[in-house]
Amino acid sequence: MRIIKKSKEINSVFNSVKKTGFVPTMGSLHKGHEYLIKKSIKQNHVTFVSIFLNPKQFNSKKDLEKYPKKLIDDIKICKKNKVDFLFIPSFKEVYSWKTKKRRFPKIENVMEEKYRKGHFKGVLKVIEKLIDIIPASRMYLGEKDFQQLKIIKDYFNINKIKTKIIRCKTIRDNNGLALSSRNKLLNNENLKKAAKVIRFIKKIKLKNNSLSHNKKAIKKFLKINKINFDYVEYINLKKFNVSKKQSYNMKIFIAFYINKIRLIDNI
Ligand code: AMP
Repeated sequence: MRIIKKSKEINSVFNSVKKTGFVPTMGSLHKGHEYLIKKSIKQNHVTFVSIFLNPKQFNSKKDLEKYPKKLIDDIKICKKNKVDFLFIPSFKEVYSWKTKKRRFPKIENVMEEKYRKGHFKGVLKVIEKLIDIIPASRMYLGEKDFQQLKIIKDYFNINKIKTKIIRCKTIRDNNGLALSSRNKLLNNENLKKAAKVIRFIKKIKLKNNSLSHNKKAIKKFLKINKINFDYVEYINLKKFNVSKKQSYNMKIFIAFYINKIRLIDNI
């Protein structure tokens, strides 16, 4: 595995390789990230992983400071999985990279767009740079961040970026909680509490009640357990707007707080 810190060096690799896979991350890697990495290694000749904690997508300085950082462990994980190139750039290496002016897609004002103002603009700004520095054949993104996946897909489509997005399922722990770097900020008791929320939503989803009834039941559960939340929404996966009626093409999206740590999921 080669660790590269300079954008120019990583970009020059593209002259010689065929099928390339790219897994962008913010580090503090876990089994969810590993799943994406393994998939890329299987499907491509060469795999690139980037670790870049992008300040532009954090709307609170405190949140950025608190975000777990585990670079030494991350390098070990990438080596173990036989990643070919690990890109660990500085802020300057990413943002001084000159790219063509591209269009940003329309973003529905729901969920993360509504509650984390400017977050997706920050995500698109970094993706714009990274996909130009690493113009891979395939990019691996997790369904855990479903709204992000949709927005990046729209961005690639409207700008005719050739990289194919490979959508990867959410990897969970034994209790059903989606793995997340932020879970590293929680103790066992908190993790169990978070998993209980997810299990409850899974149970509710199977019930044949109206959506508003189910939503009310989830909100009541959160209230009883003194868990704050930003939203609980049924979202239509095609139109990406709030669903009012049952259909097979929808999921329940949630953002909630355990011990002040904000967790998101979709079930
Ligand atoms: P992050 O480091 O949080 O920016 O995540 C990097 C990529 O890993 C994103 O495409 C995420 O959607 C994906 N990812 C994060 N957690 C999981 C998970 N539990 N299962 C699958 N993919 C994930």
